[in-house]
Amino acid sequence: SPANVADIGVTGMAVMGSNLARNLARNGFKVAIHNRSVAKTETVYENYKDEGEFFPSESTEDFVNSLQKPRVAIIMVKAGGPTDAVIDELSQYMDEGDIIVDCGNALFTDTRRREHALREKGLHFVGAGVSGGEEGALNGPSIMPGGTVESYDRLGPMFEKISAHVDGVPCCTHVGADGAGHFVKMVHNGIEYADMQVISEAYDLMKRALGMDADAIGDVFAEWNKGDLESFLIEITAIVLKHKDSRTGQAFVDVILDQAAQKGTGAWTVQTALDLGVPVTGIAEATFARSISGDAAEREAARATLKGETLDEEIADKAQFIDDLQKALYASKLVAYSQGFEEIAKGAETYDWDIKLGDMAKIWRGGCIIRAKFLNRITEAYDREPSLKLLLADPYFTEEITKCVPAWRRVVAYAAANGFPAPVFASSLAYYDAVRAERLPAALVQAQRDYFGAHTYKRVDDEGTYHVEWSGDL
Ligand code: NAP
Repeated sequence: SPANVADIGVTGMAVMGSNLARNLARNGFKVAIHNRSVAKTETVYENYKDEGEFFPSESTEDFVNSLQKPRVAIIMVKAGGPTDAVIDELSQYMDEGDIIVDCGNALFTDTRRREHALREKGLHFVGAGVSGGEEGALNGPSIMPGGTVESYDRLGPMFEKISAHVDGVPCCTHVGADGAGHFVKMVHNGIEYADMQVISEAYDLMKRALGMDADAIGDVFAEWNKGDLESFLIEITAIVLKHKDSRTGQAFVDVILDQAAQKGTGAWTVQTALDLGVPVTGIAEATFARSISGDAAEREAARATLKGETLDEEIADKAQFIDDLQKALYASKLVAYSQGFEEIAKGAETYDWDIKLGDMAKIWRGGCIIRAKFLNRITEAYDREPSLKLLLADPYFTEEITKCVPAWRRVVAYAAANGFPAPVFASSLAYYDAVRAERLPAALVQAQRDYFGAHTYKRVDDEGTYHVEWSGDL
């Protein structure tokens, strides 16, 4: 390739990188492309050269030289060690002020480390979360870039152009410094786990408690997609449930092994929340639900011995139960989002990021997996009160969740009494009741701590810190 021609470059021509490069080219940008193994670059060039202006390079040096200054090079390779290897190579050929962008799913602490190291060399490093899978990368993802404001000035307009748009607004904004973008993408994925799990819990109760088949349950989700729950995940759930397996003619969902996989972003969200002291119970239970499902040997051992007596209650009013499920799902979803936004707020405070919470909801409205109209309501809540402590305490969300409570309790009680696991429905309700409680049993925990570890306690009727000289007698 000639030198200094391309507006932007992408290295890593697997599915995500090639789709992102094509999206950029289709939007009129001159795109340098590169991959460790040359064959992939050639294939992408041959297959898609008519879609726009591509500048393929075989070597990293040529790739970097083909970029206009200040250079912008996107990395879209396997996360972890490979990303570090590619950063090392690229930075050898780059000049002060150039920008390296990691669009892979990096852990935000890695992004912070890389940003600090490259800043020492005078380079900008942007960790950008990209959501929407292959389809999003090609046709418009939700993009969450971190890094410096200066790098966003150069990169932002290109990313905003290729991102999804909702009501003419791009699903991309500068999230905050260094790892802020990857942090927000991580929490997005955590919320996605919870969103998928609450849908699955409603499905499971319709299947097992009401004895409905997948096709009929698909109809319920299609109906729910017209109301408060309207979202990409509810929409695809209806499609998936109505899909027939081509080999057997059975409902597709019934021929799938019931063991969910995970790539780690849910676990990262929970681990980080534990470090920050934020209760993301919905995301945690959703992540653990995948772990339980995946451990076949453990499940077999449990199935053989744990009989779990149940009440075997008949559901008298099927329509009422389905309506209750919709409300249990909605309320649990609101809890998961409220908790996720609390994690972002705590992360921003801890790492000194200026994250506009309402804008995060705005850039998730399109392109990404959790896209939904209801995200507008979150943006409105933070517009009303930018320093909102708890999303659920916003008047709109308070009203929404309050109207779900009786139904939510009925579902959780029924599920517990009849032996159907609904971990996110149940734990979200427990969280709701705990966070709004006048007084919590934490007082007893403090007393116990003072007893065995002299950890001290505070009084309700006085200032200061106290300790009892426990005698050990009753
Ligand atoms: P991938 O399978 O994660 O990675 C394959 C790419 O990484 C190939 O281009 C490969 O080059 C390159 N690579 C691996 N090790 C390398 C090394 N040591 N040095 C240089 N290049 C190396 O690809 P992907 O599925 O397209 O995902 C790319 C990134 O996007 C990942 O971080 C992923 O987590 C993230 N992501 C994926 C999705 C999705 O839906 N797939 C969604 C969002 C984000 P060779 O061809 O030479 O082996």
